[in-house]
Amino acid sequence: MTKIGIVGCAGRMGQMLVAEVLAGDGLELSGGTERPGGDAIGRDLGEILGRGRLGLIVGGDALALFAASDAVIDFTSPAAAAVHAQLAAETRTAYVVGTTGLAADQEAALRQAATRTAVVWAPNMSVGVNLLFSLVEQMAGLLDPATYDIEILEMHHRHKVDAPSGTALGLGRAAARGRGVELDAVWQKSRDGQTGPRRAGDIGFATLRGGDVVGDHKVVFAADGERIEIGHKASSRQVFAKGAVRAARWACGRPPGLYAMKDVLGLA
Ligand code: NAD
Repeated sequence: MTKIGIVGCAGRMGQMLVAEVLAGDGLELSGGTERPGGDAIGRDLGEILGRGRLGLIVGGDALALFAASDAVIDFTSPAAAAVHAQLAAETRTAYVVGTTGLAADQEAALRQAATRTAVVWAPNMSVGVNLLFSLVEQMAGLLDPATYDIEILEMHHRHKVDAPSGTALGLGRAAARGRGVELDAVWQKSRDGQTGPRRAGDIGFATLRGGDVVGDHKVVFAADGERIEIGHKASSRQVFAKGAVRAARWACGRPPGLYAMKDVLGLA
């Protein structure tokens, strides 16, 4: 049995992940943690999911969970992910990170952990979006930047706290790679007021928030006289949870390194 732990187990994604591990062949849920002082601490994990007692109590001791697991999945917060990365390295536990909005030093913590254990880090764990990353990179490489402007539009539910979404930035990175440039040299993360005309070669972002939208992304290649639009709509968080559990199975026993979903899915 492969033992999988879930940090942030009471969150929107955390609950999905717990259910996915419980349903997975050959998988054992090694436990779940929550934010210290959080309401879920001390409660039974099954009761949080509304499915009766499982006999697994939500704890606050992440080190113990990493030590008891073959892989740990993290959909929490950027600050928590940076701490969890250190614990993954210390215990040499495979670590799957879906958390988005990481600052440069928090990303550095993941890279550091990846020198000691297998880390799968992906802003979006769905098969569809990872295929979209590849297609966008290919299209951006084929379409002349002087003719085609790239704009990325995303919409998420009202609770999301980072913007643009990690997936939108991932799509931007894929487009920039296709054009052979660095995203942070060309990105326009938002526009407001007297912005002046659009600079050729920029990659623009637009962010919408509202309702219960799980995740919509669209990449627009706009030229004079035509537009090409390619996108993805997630209607259930289950696609992310299934991808993360697949990544956790894949990462167990891998050599240390920083991996992406395209490695897990064989799209690399
Ligand atoms: P959420 O707020 O519902 O859940 C986060 C949970 O983490 C909360 O329950 C919170 O209490 C817990 N948490 C915070 N700090 C913790 C700590 N130190 N230890 C343990 N638990 C801690 O948010 P969500 O909608 O589930 O999203 C979580 C993250 O996952 C966000 O960054 C989101 O953007 C990202 N996300 C990624 C994907 C993907 O496919 N990669 C998909 C959906 C969401």
